Formats: sequence, structure tokens, C-alpha cells
Amino acid sequence: MADESTKYTLPESEIPTHWYNVQADLQWPLDPALHPGTHQPAGPDDFAPLFPMALIGQEVSQERWVEIPDEVRDIYRLWRPTPLYRARRLEKALGTPARIFYKYEGVSPAGSHKPNTAVPQVYYNREEGTKRITTETGAGQWGSALAFACNQMGIEAKVYMVSASYKQKPYRKSMIEAWGAEVVPSPSNDTNAGRGILAEDPESPGSLGIAISEAVEDAATRDDTKYSLGSVLNHVLMHQTVIGQEAIKQMEMADAYPDMVIGCAGGGSNFAGITFPFVPDRLNGKNTRFIAVEPEASPSLTRGKFAYDFGDTAGMTPLIKMHTLGHTFVPNPIHAGGLRYHGMAPLVSLLVAHDLIEPRAYHQKTVFDAAVQFARTEGIIPAPEPSHAIRAAIDEALACKESGEAKTILFHLCGHGNFDMSAYEQYFSGEMVDYAYPEEEVAKAMESVPAV
Ligand SMILES: *Cc1c(COP(=O)(O)O)cnc(C)c1O
Repeated sequence: MADESTKYTLPESEIPTHWYNVQADLQWPLDPALHPGTHQPAGPDDFAPLFPMALIGQEVSQERWVEIPDEVRDIYRLWRPTPLYRARRLEKALGTPARIFYKYEGVSPAGSHKPNTAVPQVYYNREEGTKRITTETGAGQWGSALAFACNQMGIEAKVYMVSASYKQKPYRKSMIEAWGAEVVPSPSNDTNAGRGILAEDPESPGSLGIAISEAVEDAATRDDTKYSLGSVLNHVLMHQTVIGQEAIKQMEMADAYPDMVIGCAGGGSNFAGITFPFVPDRLNGKNTRFIAVEPEASPSLTRGKFAYDFGDTAGMTPLIKMHTLGHTFVPNPIHAGGLRYHGMAPLVSLLVAHDLIEPRAYHQKTVFDAAVQFARTEGIIPAPEPSHAIRAAIDEALACKESGEAKTILFHLCGHGNFDMSAYEQYFSGEMVDYAYPEEEVAKAMESVPAV
């Protein structure tokens, strides 16, 4: 009998027991992180003021599988396994012979994939005696995920929220407070980094890079406090591989294997989460394409340079080798706040450099055209970030319509857009603008990239 399912769900017993570490399967080693001052390879001691040892170990681990602690799996049960959908209504509207599937992470308490790493990060911190965790948040998705995880495990949290978002997204701020965390607009008066920026520009809208500087300074100057990052780092990407592992099983239930896997890329974690578990098959000869979609306004993969750079604006973090637009670059205020970052995960950057991943960039208006088409066929209102992946999935499905090929497309719907209604409002009122690629600003920011 023909499979007519719309949704493929797994029981809780199928929540993955291990995270997958792609480093074990790559023949190209990652370049080491470097100390910001000496430019020598950074050792565990350089990271110890910021991260618990367990996470520092995971950052450099070459083990293929890392066991997920029982307590973490138990919290995962609140929303995992997440559903995989067949986008039958979208396929029909497009008139494409392609089969479109999407993995949906919007069912988590915070509404995105971010709690998949927030929970284990807080867990390892608590195991090593951390009492308080600081972090930054742009659009508010990471801040709310960390607040949720800290609340589950009885840890205090302080979130430095990019000032522009703090004003534009009051409900994300309230969500962080609902889970009991403290949230302040960044730049703030609570750190030297923040006071320095405010002295130069009291009206500074802030940026992710600035907020990272503040959260790192706070953690580095207090004994009871550590810092937590929601993307970019190797251990964060590894925690997200629960997504792709489940998707492989669910695609099997649908008797399907993707010809392409598509995700949006801000820092690279949701993209890695869905694609990395497919990498072993690709290395063994399958020709699945991995497409990473980013905004034209902040195009680190398509236009950036693969070089050592700082993760934050003030230049306090270790130097990491990644695709970067320059750590002082402040992207235009597009609505996909989670994609407004100057850099990219080293592991995603490495796979782009070796042509395993194809990067692609879109302007925001065409992205919202796709978001609305998706909402009007599949029902779920997508966040602006994964709407980049939807744009690419629709374009690939339309290419199949041209060529008559029935390809199988899997994309990642990594969060819902229920807190992004002001962006939709702008789109519907016709006030949304596209920002040209800011060539001059990037050139200027690239001068700040240290020579290594
Ligand atoms: C944080 C976030 C992103 C961007 O971060 P990645 O590390 O690239 O995944 C994209 N989409 C959503 C919904 C997010 O919350």
C-alpha cells in the first residue's frame, strides 16, 4: 500500500543514546584554536575560566560517539524525538515531482533546536560545581533556551541580550524571565566591555559580538560563574546531532533517502545537527548534497574569508579558523537575528573549504515570500532563520519541476516564528527592505582580522 503519511514520529525509546562526533570521520584535522595574545595553540587551561572540563574535553574529542547522560536524555523526553513531516501540501502547491521532507525542532519548550545543547551544557556545569552561567542572545532564542535549561537544573543565569532585540522583542525577554533568569540589554553598564561601547555610543544597538564580550568578561571575573555559547563550537554542533540521527530513522520509515539536506547557517549548529549524521554515508560514496543557506546581509560562507579571527567584537575569545566577515563587522538589522553573526563554526567552515557543503545566500524579502507560502500550505509559521532553508528547498523543488526529476529533499525547520510577528507585520505592510551586501563595511572589518 502506498505510504500516505504526513508525519513520521518515533517513540521516546528512540531518543539517541549518543551524540555523533564528525571529527572522528574527517581526514582533514581542524586547525587548533589559538590564544588571543600569544597566537600559540590554546590549551585546556586557556578555556578553564569559561567552560567546565567535560565540555573542553568534548571540544577536542576524536571519539566517534559520546554517550548522552541519562539525566539529559530524561529532559530531552519533554520534546524529543521531534517529528519529521512530508510537506505534501507544499509539494502540491508547487506542482513538483520532488518529495519534500522537513524535520521540525519548533516543538521544544523554547521553540527551536537550541535546548538540545543548552541542557547538556548546564548539566556538565552543574556536575563541576558551577552556580551561575552567563550568555549572550541575539534574537532571544538562545537566551530563552539557556534560561529553560538552567531552570530545569537549579542554576542561576544572566543573559546579555542585544539591545536592538531587547526593545523589538519584549516577549522573548519575558520568556527568559518566566524561566527565572536575569536579562539585561547589551551593551550594558555591568561590564567594562559594555561601558566602553556606551561611552563611545550611548545609543549603540549592540551586536552579538558585543554581547559575547560582556558575557565572557562576567564569567571570567567571577569564580562561581561560567559562560555558555549557543553555537559555533564543536561540542555545541555535536549536541545537535540528535536531530540528524532521528531524521535518518524517520526517513527510513518513509522509505526515503535525501538527495539533498538543506539548513540555514548562522553559527552553524542547526545545520550541523541535521547534516553531520549523513556525512559518513557521503564519505562512503553517497552523493547527497548539503546546502547551507545564509543571508545576503551577513554572508560569511559565500563572501567571507577562511581565516583565524576572534569570536567576539572586543577580541577576548581565542582565535578560531573559520569563514569570517571580520569580528568588528556589525550586520544590518535583518529579521533573521540568529543569522547576524560575523563568523561560522570551524567544522562547517572546514567542510565548505573541502566542498562537502555548498553555501548559498538570499535576500530577506524572497525568504519571507517562501515563509508565507510555507505557512499557507503546511500551516506552521516558520522563524525567519529557517525560512532561508525553506527558500532553498522551494527553489530546488521548482528546479525538479523544470527537469522532471523526482528528487528527495530534506530541510531543517529549526524553529517556529511565533515570536517574530513584527517581522511578518513589516513584510505584509510592504515596509521590509533588502540590504545590499555591505562591501565597504566588510572590507573595513576585514582589516581588523589579525595576521596569524
Ligand atoms: C539560533 C538560531 C539559528 C542560528 O544558529 P545556528 O547555530 O546557525 O543554528 C537559526 N535558527 C533558529 C531558529 C535559531 O534559534
